[in-house]
Amino acid sequence: MASATDVIVIGAGPAGLAAAHHLTEGGMRVTVLEATERVGGRMATDTVDGFRLDHGPQLLNTAYPELHRAGGLRGLPLAPLAPGALVRSGGRAYRVGGPSGTRAPLGSARDRARLGTALDRLAATPTRRITARPESTAALALAGRGFAPRTVEHFLRPLLAALLCDAELGTSSRVADIVLRGFARGRACLPVGGAARLPERLAATLPPGTIRFGVRAAHVAANAVHTVDGAELPCRGVVVATDAHAAAALLPGLRVPGFHPVTVVHHAAPAAPLREPVLVLDADRLGPVSHTYPATAIDPTRAPTGRALVTSVVLGPPPDGSDDKTIRAHLADLYDTSTDRWDLLSLRTTAHCVPAMPPPHDLRRPVRLLAGLYVCGDHRDTSTIQGALFSGRRAAAAALRDLSADVPPRAA
Ligand SMILES: Cc1cc2nc3c(=O)[nH]c(=O)nc-3n(C[C@H](O)[C@H](O)[C@H](O)COP(=O)(O)OP(=O)(O)OC[C@H]3O[C@@H](n4cnc5c(N)ncnc54)[C@H](O)[C@@H]3O)c2cc1C
Repeated sequence: MASATDVIVIGAGPAGLAAAHHLTEGGMRVTVLEATERVGGRMATDTVDGFRLDHGPQLLNTAYPELHRAGGLRGLPLAPLAPGALVRSGGRAYRVGGPSGTRAPLGSARDRARLGTALDRLAATPTRRITARPESTAALALAGRGFAPRTVEHFLRPLLAALLCDAELGTSSRVADIVLRGFARGRACLPVGGAARLPERLAATLPPGTIRFGVRAAHVAANAVHTVDGAELPCRGVVVATDAHAAAALLPGLRVPGFHPVTVVHHAAPAAPLREPVLVLDADRLGPVSHTYPATAIDPTRAPTGRALVTSVVLGPPPDGSDDKTIRAHLADLYDTSTDRWDLLSLRTTAHCVPAMPPPHDLRRPVRLLAGLYVCGDHRDTSTIQGALFSGRRAAAAALRDLSADVPPRAA
């Protein structure tokens, strides 16, 4: 029996939506099966009392190539953070890499110049040169690059921990270099209105009815998907675009990485604790929060008029005994302001948040399993939105190569 669908994509997260978008552009008839009732996967935003609360502190970077390459994402409204970061150390705040330049506590003028030169050089380094470098952990690489210990401890370590969601910096040094290069090349930013805007925008590029919500795939083959409800959906190709655990359940033998758990905390404040839209890093590790930002100073649409939203991240579950009071006490130190009148809006720990990328890390895991069967998701590239989107593009390209030869003409 002829199928009405060429390719079934399983999962409507960023990777699956990107794959569906590129397949549709390539002339394929696509159906996306999504187990939940919404698009976005881990890139989700809840609305609570007029506040827009991201499940993850999804910091994008204007240098992510896929933001400019995926047709549907061009023009996505982005709210940039100020360059650099505000580092909190020893009871003081230091602006690093901002308009006023790099200052103490990073060490001597020579140390600061060395950091500036290294970041400039990294910004101009092509990926092939980064992937040709010896690979170790980010922690070991930082220690061996000749930076002043203060530069590492007061800036590079907390910055990379925040960008990689990895407190111990066990991530591959090559991935760390690529992420740091993005920081040096572009600007960290948030999608205006919440992280969910990005997948919503990709979904809007698909023909109406492409996504079927509330349908969970149970088994896959290259020519059909069986759902948990017992339906058999025939097709000519399948792209598994779920998270790594669900992908391994559908494709036995697929490697499942370890994960970094992350806790995201949103507070409502009477006013923004900082006017500048800047990332605040904790260099001293004296409390549970790794990094935090005044979300409404970056994107005012995230709170109702007259209120401010502050978003903070604990790398891992909150340490034993720490509750909202402990977190607010730490935030009071980081922002140097009282947090007594801040209200907790949400505290969410995601155990399987970001796939770990220890060395050796393959930056381009295969996405083609056999002709007609493909896999994509952040576990195939880097554990970032960029990695998820790029893996979707790669899977779609492989499917198009295999299946395009005999695409049946579309009905007029
Ligand atoms: C708290 C947190 C913070 C993060 N911070 C950042 C950051 O600052 N910067 C950054 O770039 N990235 C960040 N990330 C990572 C980024 O969000 C992910 O890499 C990206 O969302 C992964 O997209 P994906 O499409 O691969 O998977 P997912 O988003 O997990 O999408 C998979 C989809 O598949 C569906 N699905 C699963 N099983 C089935 C099935 N059997 N049948 C049908 N559908 C199924 C799921 O419901 C889901 O919608 C963060 C993630 C989290 C959770």
